Amino acid sequence: MYLKKDLKDLKLEELEEIITSLGEKKFRAKQLFKWIHEKNIKDIDDITVLSKEFRIKLKEDFYISNIKMHEKFESKIDKTIKYLFLLEDGNIIESVRMKHKHGNSICLSTQVGCKMGCSFCASTKEGLIRNLTTAEILDQVYKIKEDIDENISNIVLMGTGEPLDNYENVLKFIRLINDKNGQNISMRSISLSTCGLVEEMYKLAEKNIPITLSISLHSASNDDRKKIMPISNKYSIEDILDASRYYIEKTNRRITFEYTLIKDVNDKKEDAKKLSELLKGMLAHVNIIPLNPIKESNLETSNYASDFSELLIKKGINTTIRREMGRDINAACGQLRNNILNGN
Ligand code: SAH
Repeated sequence: MYLKKDLKDLKLEELEEIITSLGEKKFRAKQLFKWIHEKNIKDIDDITVLSKEFRIKLKEDFYISNIKMHEKFESKIDKTIKYLFLLEDGNIIESVRMKHKHGNSICLSTQVGCKMGCSFCASTKEGLIRNLTTAEILDQVYKIKEDIDENISNIVLMGTGEPLDNYENVLKFIRLINDKNGQNISMRSISLSTCGLVEEMYKLAEKNIPITLSISLHSASNDDRKKIMPISNKYSIEDILDASRYYIEKTNRRITFEYTLIKDVNDKKEDAKKLSELLKGMLAHVNIIPLNPIKESNLETSNYASDFSELLIKKGINTTIRREMGRDINAACGQLRNNILNGN
């Protein structure tokens, strides 16, 4: 299945190289790109703008991958939709559509599973199976767009997986989804959430792409953070904040710090105070996420979200509390996992 190269995975320049090496004119590459990424065509045979002979030639070494909609759950509370997509190798991933006043926001997966091991998160419980290809990340957008028949205004890379652990494919995804010959979604409408892979944060800063970086901080003290996020054994909060400052300096973009509030773990007044001291003067924003308890852990939701947020605001830190969406269909933060594979 993977012997042929996936055309959906390639940048325009890469298509140009292929097209010219097959003896066709360079401008055909742009047509091919548009049909794949703008028209969302599913098969080389359907690209009728190319001659039949050329399509036959192209099919010898290339194909177009497609993920398939496997199941769809629609929330009765809000207009959230959770999708399960079947990949060509039989793996299943999840994506979520959230409907806001300003448009459709979609939450995409970047890996099958995750190896980060955060104790409160369902997506990591069975480890990492594999990275998604660029095409598989793109195809979540294309298939959702086709299903809802509406435009997508925002993309959040906050589904299953650690996006910066799949750095190259995710970066290519951002460039392709932003391409004016494709979906043309602005970088500013894309958010990437990371548990704080410091080296990749520096690498990303150098690219100077104006996406919004969100960092899952979840704690203001290294000792507490280590209890819930194994990645803290590798990078300290200070390392993460240094990288964040560098990112802000390079991109001039405000960073969002995500803080999942967990009862008796990180919800004390002193935690809020410490957090405000850490972030003082930074071009930053704190997003408090009420914990969605998962059955694999006994961590509980904290009742102090509004107190915690008020305290931060009093200390001059921009703070919001995240509204939960799609709770009745298990579409909320951290609940994404291949449930059906476990038969539950
Ligand atoms: N790996 C990335 C993105 C995936 S998770 C990251 O760590 O940022 C997106 C956000 O949901 C992260 O902030 C994550 O910590 C949070 N999250 C995970 N499980 C959760 C849960 N059970 N309740 C609330 N938030 C959760």
